Amino acid sequence: MEKSKIGSRFEGKVAIVTASTQGIGFAIAERLGLEGASVVISSRKQKNVDEAVQTLKAGGIEVFGVVCHVSNEEQRKNLISKTVQKYGKIDVVVSNAAANPSIDTILQTKESVLDKLWEINVKASILLLKDADPHLKKGSSVVIISSIAGYHPPASMAMYGVTKTALLGLTKALAADMAPNTRVNCVAPGFVPTNFASYITETDAVRKSLEEQTLLNRLGTTGDMAAAAAFLASDDASYITGETLVVAGGMPSRL
Ligand code: NAP
Repeated sequence: MEKSKIGSRFEGKVAIVTASTQGIGFAIAERLGLEGASVVISSRKQKNVDEAVQTLKAGGIEVFGVVCHVSNEEQRKNLISKTVQKYGKIDVVVSNAAANPSIDTILQTKESVLDKLWEINVKASILLLKDADPHLKKGSSVVIISSIAGYHPPASMAMYGVTKTALLGLTKALAADMAPNTRVNCVAPGFVPTNFASYITETDAVRKSLEEQTLLNRLGTTGDMAAAAAFLASDDASYITGETLVVAGGMPSRL
């Protein structure tokens, strides 16, 4: 997408996006950056951070990269403090990191895996926002990335789905906690072919069956998710808080 063809809703704003060196997080960072934000991107591997910074810079985006494994306390604190040192403030936080380490049924899932899912998918968001909160002023905004799987945890990723259900509740609870200065909303993506969800396009049969579960007969794109996250983070959504936007081509979610 070209900078000149989209809006400028984030001119003068500073946005942190976690897990943003590829996939949905990268697309969100790119979208916010193209709309004028200074974006702080992060993920576990320095090499990925460096490459993503280069790509975004080449697109004319003001970007700063920091290594941050979201379940590492020191790295989370460093992400916040480096952002404030460099840009002086934080306007937007997008909490996007997740793990899906198991395909076991819930009762078969090892305790260590239950802990990891809770740590990365839920607890790390809370702890990151705890550190960011003192810097979030009136008009700031948080977007949490859940999943369509949060509404109907599928057997093949049941506990992952349950952690995503928790994020729907967390969005409501944090919206109350952080009001009135900070709005907190959530995006629940449908199926988007990324590394994380590479099974989606492994065979034509799988791809087709997933497409057929949508009303729009297609998988989602990272750009679809970025557009929704950017809307919720922007002042266009200034009277929306505590809500989840399902971006899943009409897949069943809730009334
Ligand atoms: P992806 O394309 O595989 O990208 C994952 C990104 O996260 C990479 O930049 C990776 O970089 C980083 N990362 C992984 N673990 C991390 C950690 N512990 N701390 C910090 N960064 C980490 O994944 P995606 O599909 O975009 O998924 C992003 C979010 O969308 C997740 O919350 C996922 O649950 C949600 N979602 C995805 C789909 C889908 O169909 N794709 C559907 C619903 C919801 P490093 O390897 O350098 O860390």
